[in-house]
Amino acid sequence: VDPNIQDDMEKLQDTFPGFRQQYRLIKRIGEGTFSTVYKAEDLVYDQYDNSWDYEKESDKWAPPPLRTYGRNSSSSATTRPRRKPKYVAIKKIYVTSSPTRILNELDLLHDLRGCTSVCPLITAFRETDQVIAILPYFRHADFREYFRKMTPTDIAIYLRSLFTALESVHRHKILHRDIKPTNFLYDPSTKRGVLVDFGLAEREGSECKPCLCHEDPTTRRNRLRAAHLNSSVPHNGYPKQDTRPSRRANRAGTRGFRAPEVLFKCTEQTTKIDIWSAGVILLTILSKRFPFFNSADDVEAMVEIATIFGIKRMRQAGQLHGCMFETTIPTIGTQGFSFERIILWSTCRDTGVKMPEDEKLAVEFLARCMELDPARRISAEDALNHPFLQMGLE
Ligand code: ADP
Ligand code: MG
Repeated sequence: VDPNIQDDMEKLQDTFPGFRQQYRLIKRIGEGTFSTVYKAEDLVYDQYDNSWDYEKESDKWAPPPLRTYGRNSSSSATTRPRRKPKYVAIKKIYVTSSPTRILNELDLLHDLRGCTSVCPLITAFRETDQVIAILPYFRHADFREYFRKMTPTDIAIYLRSLFTALESVHRHKILHRDIKPTNFLYDPSTKRGVLVDFGLAEREGSECKPCLCHEDPTTRRNRLRAAHLNSSVPHNGYPKQDTRPSRRANRAGTRGFRAPEVLFKCTEQTTKIDIWSAGVILLTILSKRFPFFNSADDVEAMVEIATIFGIKRMRQAGQLHGCMFETTIPTIGTQGFSFERIILWSTCRDTGVKMPEDEKLAVEFLARCMELDPARRISAEDALNHPFLQMGLE
């Protein structure tokens, strides 16, 4: 065992009074930008409802009984009856996270309790500046180990689980903002998954200013026509003395999974940004390439997306949010490529090859998730009714 990890585990157990009576820390299972996650055995789980099996009944959980935040050391481990061990995931949120941010994560999880395929919050503790969230431990496999082996039906089942979670989250008007394989814990043997990590999540409409992409179609048509008339003087290149105010928008999320409207700094982002990211997961699985997008920054990310969609559609996508998209990169064509072609290429198949029908359906669904225009992109609710996700109904 790594002495540093051991040291951190000791510190954690010493920070919270009564910790050792309630939990037996087993190992570190995750380390991210904002937290460290440990697996632990819950020694006194019978003090709250034990009708729900943490590990197996993931998507059949009744709303977990939420205990009040704070210390709790009334029960003693020595008196517990012998029974099957229950495991929890203990998420230690870094003290560098702001209190509002930590509260936000716990608050949203509390709102989402009882939602199918969303990992419930059992409780949380605070000791001075240290906060830990206690979640049921969910057994899962590493995405990189199974995604290449998935059949179209496997993919449909996987995505049905993910979109079930997204539908609940979006119904609560919450944007997850960080949909990616490591935040969707999936167990291929039970075919169940849970969505975790609401560290970047936010309520729809919070800190948002009107963006052009929300204007009605007639106003937009007129605006674009006027812009077109005014563009008789070609303005090439980047303005030397740019007096326009810089755009600010929430760009939280993970490289490669950011929706085009996030890259275009749309100030009125919606739950559709999660649908795009879910689409990127699907593209990854179908193309058998992880990561599919591998940009170092937002500009490179735009170049990658433009390579697929072509400059014409990328320009239109920019205009939606009042942005110009110009490029002289020769590999970005006017028309771009179809998803079918990209997938055939990346799986080393001849582009003349006919794709099996079920895979074609997956590609059709992919195109609905990766619509450049968020308003036209499929919603989680409609996605569950799409023939491809219907295939995932066992
Ligand atoms: P971060 O904000 O650091 O990314 P996450 O909530 O995404 O934190 O958790 C990090 C990792 O810890 C996950 O990718 C997963 O491997 C593991 N993990 C988190 N929650 C659970 C859970 N409930 N059950 C099992 N493993 C979990
Ligand atoms: Mg995470």
